[in-house]
Amino acid sequence: MSVPYAEALAEFEPVIGLETHVELGTASKMFCGCDTTFGAEPNTQTCPVCLGLPGALPVVNAKAIESTIRIGLALHCEIATWCRFARKNYFYPDMPKNFQTSQYDEPLCTEGWLDVEVPAEDGVPQTVRIPIERVHLEEDTGKSLHVGGATGRIQGASHSLVDYNRAGIPLVEIVTKPVVGTGARPAEIAKAYVTELRDLLRGLDVSDVRMEQGSMRCDVNVSLNLPGQGWGTRSETKNVNSLRSVERAVRSEVERQAARLRAGERIVQETRHFSEASGTSSSGRSKEEAMDYRYFPEPDLVPIAPDPAWVATLRAALPEAPSVRRQRMTTGLGLSAADSAAMVNAGVLDLVLATVAAGAPAAEARNWWLGHLAQAANAGGVDAADLSITPGQVAEVVALVAGGGLNAGLARQVVDGVLAGEGSPAEVVTARGLAVVSDEGTLLSAVDEAITAAPDAADKVRAGKLAAAGALVGAVMRATG
Ligand code: ADP
Ligand code: MG
Ligand code: ZN
Repeated sequence: MSVPYAEALAEFEPVIGLETHVELGTASKMFCGCDTTFGAEPNTQTCPVCLGLPGALPVVNAKAIESTIRIGLALHCEIATWCRFARKNYFYPDMPKNFQTSQYDEPLCTEGWLDVEVPAEDGVPQTVRIPIERVHLEEDTGKSLHVGGATGRIQGASHSLVDYNRAGIPLVEIVTKPVVGTGARPAEIAKAYVTELRDLLRGLDVSDVRMEQGSMRCDVNVSLNLPGQGWGTRSETKNVNSLRSVERAVRSEVERQAARLRAGERIVQETRHFSEASGTSSSGRSKEEAMDYRYFPEPDLVPIAPDPAWVATLRAALPEAPSVRRQRMTTGLGLSAADSAAMVNAGVLDLVLATVAAGAPAAEARNWWLGHLAQAANAGGVDAADLSITPGQVAEVVALVAGGGLNAGLARQVVDGVLAGEGSPAEVVTARGLAVVSDEGTLLSAVDEAITAAPDAADKVRAGKLAAAGALVGAVMRATG
């Protein structure tokens, strides 16, 4: 039961809201000295503080405060001059303290915004300003592993294991205000926002922002209302773990809610779980019976009062915003506004810039990412950034062509080989025997053999029928591979 996206948005107005969790890349955890390396043996990075043992006392990680303030500044937020952590009380096996140390009514950063460029169907991309409600600091939970079932979910599992290595890793939550006026493109705008936010965080060097590893994850809120009426009830789709899924999560919710509303049913305020496999979400817990977290100020930690002079130093040292950097670089490379619009629309601008940084001429980098690679991404239903070829490898192929080792057709085959996981460009050239044969001796003897094997064709060419050379060229190409 769903109404097609465009049709739904012709009838209803969407409101979206994004909550993004980002694990900071600090060397140690939020309130203790434990290591934070990803992928370590379970439960080897724990101590009495992050295990919540009685009497253990937390100490705030100064670097995490600094990173959060830098994120807030980059998002044009106001930075609190005084704020406190709070206890969010609830029981769950992955949270050994039985409360999460978080921030509640006193977040570090408030009232910001982020401008995002949104792909346009035709013409110049549009800039949309996403209002930011708050940026606050909390700690991550541990990780449950449900064993013995078919799906890895708790339903059907025979037992569960818990890994507390992640418990206590600093986690920043960035919450937008309700975003209105997204018209016919709420899904595209949501994706563009998360993409821009990820680039901004990467530029700040505060997190490795790897959605597939969970160091960046989004909750996607969506509601629909009839024009001229108040906002509708929202649903919240949890833990959306790729850029593509951010778009799909909004899209499927718009389609689902529109059908319910049309049928005169009401939308239940609930959390939903997104399935990567189906691209749709299923109902989770109903928010109407949401628990009371009994927030209160954390008594074991002193308040945070960032010195305004320090905040000013951090502000002055912020890196260039990704949008500014992109503008400067595309102009510097002599790419036209239309080029950069096309690259924004295809989601490949940063990939082109990285390919240029790896040594390729701008025009070549642009052609690859807008052409053959965009097609490959499309065919595979993935974002260009998730293709298994790096900008450095694309630059390598470009260099091989420039050096005469490959022609255009062979270059595409090499790229296809890299995409298919056959190794680096050089490895694919060797394995598939794709190098251009430019040794004159080899070529001349192949030509001689072709002429000997097809004397008729050779006679026609001698008589001036140049079209007949096709058969000879074909024979040489077969012989030299
Ligand atoms: P919770 O923790 O209950 O999810 P938050 O305030 O942390 O609450 O986040 C709610 C998110 O939903 C915010 O991004 C907010 O802007 C957004 N939101 C609020 N109301 C609506 C609505 N009617 N439709 C869509 N999004 C909404
Ligand atoms: Mg939420
Ligand atoms: Zn610890």
